Amino acid sequence: MSGSPAVVLRLVASAYTVAEKAGDIVRKVLHRGELGIVEKDGANDLQTLADRLAQKSICASLSRHFPKVTIIGEEDLPAEEVTEDLIENGHAEEILKKMCPAEYSGVKEEELVVWVDPLDGTKEYTEGLLDNVTVLIGIAYAGRAIAGVINQPFYNYQLGPGAQLGRTMWGILGLGAFGFQLQEGPDDKRIVTTTRSHSNKIVTECVNAMEPDEVVRVGGAGNKIIQLIEGKASAYVFASPGTKKWDTCAPEVILQCVGGKLTDMHNNAYCYDAKVKHLNSAGVLATLRNHDYYISRVPQSVLRALKSD
Ligand code: AMP
Ligand code: MG
Ligand code: MG
Repeated sequence: MSGSPAVVLRLVASAYTVAEKAGDIVRKVLHRGELGIVEKDGANDLQTLADRLAQKSICASLSRHFPKVTIIGEEDLPAEEVTEDLIENGHAEEILKKMCPAEYSGVKEEELVVWVDPLDGTKEYTEGLLDNVTVLIGIAYAGRAIAGVINQPFYNYQLGPGAQLGRTMWGILGLGAFGFQLQEGPDDKRIVTTTRSHSNKIVTECVNAMEPDEVVRVGGAGNKIIQLIEGKASAYVFASPGTKKWDTCAPEVILQCVGGKLTDMHNNAYCYDAKVKHLNSAGVLATLRNHDYYISRVPQSVLRALKSD
């Protein structure tokens, strides 16, 4: 083989390092203590200085090296010059050494869409539930989520001072997912994970319809996928509009790489092309195994309330 690595590999290799830098920004803002909280849409939809700085860093860094890629970030920010200290020029060398799956080896830069959630779990970040926080960079091609990077900036924070903080997970469909140890949950127990801060009657009704043995209420879409791949939950059930494409793109890839599935409540896949609407209107159902069981339990009332795109 000759020539430079496929653009998908190069983009993931950059996104890996860019997500690490964003994670560092998220830690530093907390450490300095001035969170700069803004309510975007009431007290349950917050933005902090960390969300703003991390998004600036991610978008400016990726667009410098991949100017033809469409990049869509969660935060609405004024177009302004990004200072050089926010730019990350590095990449993960070990990702470039991997073989790009054949179906993506000829993909062009302008055919890729990047969905950026600079800080998923902002509410939890402001409340000190730090391991709920992730930085999400998802990559889509032909409407499909095909690659993703998840940085968890405060991984290990409960271990106290001296512990190595943070980790980065990444994956490409057809290649695999890396940066964590896959663990299957208990066979004999249904553990459902769902929102802790965006619940309502339908969300609760749908969780109960799954007949769970246990319900794990944690923040963040990225964090809930981590619960699935590390065996702490069997299904992520969120029967409500609320998550957006940047919440699900990267997590969906990591989950799919280990044999899982993420759909809306009707068992339909979400589309991630550049023109799609941002809201995941028909909810999120994600599982590592037994997706059909959970789909079969979704009540008719939920299906009527949440229409697929
Ligand atoms: P949660 O499971 O509540 O932590 O939500 C996962 C992601 O979806 C986070 O980025 C939330 O901000 C977002 N989200 C979920 N529900 C809503 C909502 N009702 N309004 C705004 N954002 C939401
Ligand atoms: Mg989010
Ligand atoms: Mg966010």
